[in-house]
Amino acid sequence: MTVSIPRLKRAARIILIGAPGVGKGTQTERLLARFPQLASISSGDLLRENVRLRTPLGIQAETIIQSGNLVPDSMILDLISSELWKRGWLSTSHRSSSTDGTKSNSSPSPQNPVPAPQSPAKISPDASFILDGFPRTLSQALSLDSLVPINFAVHLVTPPSVILSRIAKRWVHEPSGRVYNTDFNAPKVPGRDDVTGEPLTQRSDDSTGTWYQRYHKFEETSRDLVAHYADKGCLSRIEGNSSDEITPRLFKAIEERFC
Ligand code: AMP
Repeated sequence: MTVSIPRLKRAARIILIGAPGVGKGTQTERLLARFPQLASISSGDLLRENVRLRTPLGIQAETIIQSGNLVPDSMILDLISSELWKRGWLSTSHRSSSTDGTKSNSSPSPQNPVPAPQSPAKISPDASFILDGFPRTLSQALSLDSLVPINFAVHLVTPPSVILSRIAKRWVHEPSGRVYNTDFNAPKVPGRDDVTGEPLTQRSDDSTGTWYQRYHKFEETSRDLVAHYADKGCLSRIEGNSSDEITPRLFKAIEERFC
């Protein structure tokens, strides 16, 4: 039997908004497998990579991440915008599609979301991607608006009690960011990454106390974020008690919108 691969007919620029542990990483992996035109950037993975490599940014971010707080907007914006440039999705040569895209990306801050244009940054009209974990605050969203026109924001919703009960079963392969859950997405060999065979670890910020701190932060900052994308008319709320419940709803929403 041949499985048809859905093709995106227009560029999809998707963000996933959801409480810590709701399964944004898992959904991202499944979306990448389903829609080969998509790529992804995870702000949490980028930060953890910097921590792992002991970069100056990583050293600065480490204690903030461990405390369950958000790293400063300027830090995350620099990280994300340089990743967008690195991937070739932002450049000075693309013709912008649906945004004026005339802003520079250097050192944005919450007060001044994007600085005055020097070398105009433009989004590649063909770039289709998922941003996982970014933006997390309204000010980050406003900065992103000036760089990249997001055209689909998905709010993933699972009851906090359900998330908390499965967080203990979450294992990650740090170098790749691959996420496993011993209940519903177990590695083929217990404790080992399916692709590399390397050992899996648990995230230090997945302890119950830190999770509550991260959850409260999410509740505090996500209201304005969700309202922002609702106002733009590109928000979809997808609920489910498990990743397996959410995935088909998410696929359907994307297919209806982009295929
Ligand atoms: P995540 O893997 O998305 O749960 O992110 C792990 C941690 O990285 C968060 O608890 C924050 O400390 C930090 N982080 C990730 N994304 C952002 C963001 N967009 N803004 C600020 N901090 C972030």
